[in-house]
Amino acid sequence: MDSEVLMRQLGDNYIVSHNLNTEADIQVVNTCGFIGDAKEESVDTILQLTKAKSNGLTKKVFVTGCLSQRYKNDLKKEIPDVDGFFGVNDLPEILKSLEVDYKEELIGERKITTPSHFAYLKISEGCDRDCSYCAIPLIRGKHKSKPIEELVKEAQFLASNGVKELILIAQDLTYYGIDIYRKRKITELVNKLSEVKGIEWIRLHYAYPAAFPLDLIDEINDNPKVCNYLDIPLQHINNRILKSMKRAHDKDTTINLVEKFRQKLTNASLRTTFIVGYPGETDEEFEELYQFVEKYKFDRMGVFQYSEEEDTSAFDLKDDVDPQTKQDIADKLMMLQQQLSLERNKEKVGLTLKVIIDRKEDPYYIGRTEFDSPEVDNEVLINIENEDLKLGEFYNVEITKADFFDLYGKISPEN
Ligand code: SF4
Repeated sequence: MDSEVLMRQLGDNYIVSHNLNTEADIQVVNTCGFIGDAKEESVDTILQLTKAKSNGLTKKVFVTGCLSQRYKNDLKKEIPDVDGFFGVNDLPEILKSLEVDYKEELIGERKITTPSHFAYLKISEGCDRDCSYCAIPLIRGKHKSKPIEELVKEAQFLASNGVKELILIAQDLTYYGIDIYRKRKITELVNKLSEVKGIEWIRLHYAYPAAFPLDLIDEINDNPKVCNYLDIPLQHINNRILKSMKRAHDKDTTINLVEKFRQKLTNASLRTTFIVGYPGETDEEFEELYQFVEKYKFDRMGVFQYSEEEDTSAFDLKDDVDPQTKQDIADKLMMLQQQLSLERNKEKVGLTLKVIIDRKEDPYYIGRTEFDSPEVDNEVLINIENEDLKLGEFYNVEITKADFFDLYGKISPEN
């Protein structure tokens, strides 16, 4: 999204594209600095582009984003060929280096780089929590909500450019509003966004489990534009680990909340993520997590292997689960999820579901139901034979077959 805002601000001054092209005159690398793999990928990209610069293929290389914010001084020393390093809040400065003025009137506008029918909407930046393993507050700062009117304006801009699905993201979604309105306003925000003409689906990512605003459950249930979907990273279930992680929920409150979701959101897809291999995690603690997953059967699940992050409080703990064990337990949990996912998918065979078509990849059109988010969740595959579907349109699809993670279907005569 930050790249999209930069691209919009560059406007007519440059021909911009959002891909790796070593022969473009000017390169801006938007880096990620949260976890080891992302840092490595960011550095590799910078090195690739500085090499292109020394070979005369490109003229200037600028670096922005989280990695640059966090390690600006080290990077300057290590990669001196870069023409400028910028932090996450330095948009006007980057523009100045590119000889373009920052335009206030373009607040809320972006050049959309996702397929034009869906877009991410970042409702707040930063986080007030201090989870022991997480560097986000160090990089992004304290939680800062965007005002409702600004977000509605951004949604209107996106809708007028063909966006039908808004994917709301925040580091702590349900904290939205506390900093600027002195109370949680996520439900009101979702309701206002659902009134924007052209928006048909609103999807919610990254809710924090403690003090979850229960009126949001009603909004998901009652508002047809809010997808029956909730992404709520739980991270673990063992009390010792949750406490060491400095999470504000324990085993009992987590179970109560999940049970409440299951009672009230009977048709919703619950997505969560867990961290395995946290310092000191014993076989028994992992087993407790495994049994929790087995019992509560999340619809979608991701597993991260713990990786230590400098300057976080967990960095002082001994990272004592060896890499092979981390890999093995992550695989074990995902194997369980694969089976659970297959069971859930089989329940959908024979149903007719509303599907948005994301892309065409011979021999299939590939779409999603309201129960799935792009890039991380399941897809619905529809054979292209005899079908002429439009990308970004909704169709009723009859589900004919279930796989571990994906569904297969055919266009229903009900369209
Ligand atoms: S709530 Fe999320 S973003 Fe905030 S500190 Fe915890 S893990 Fe990091």
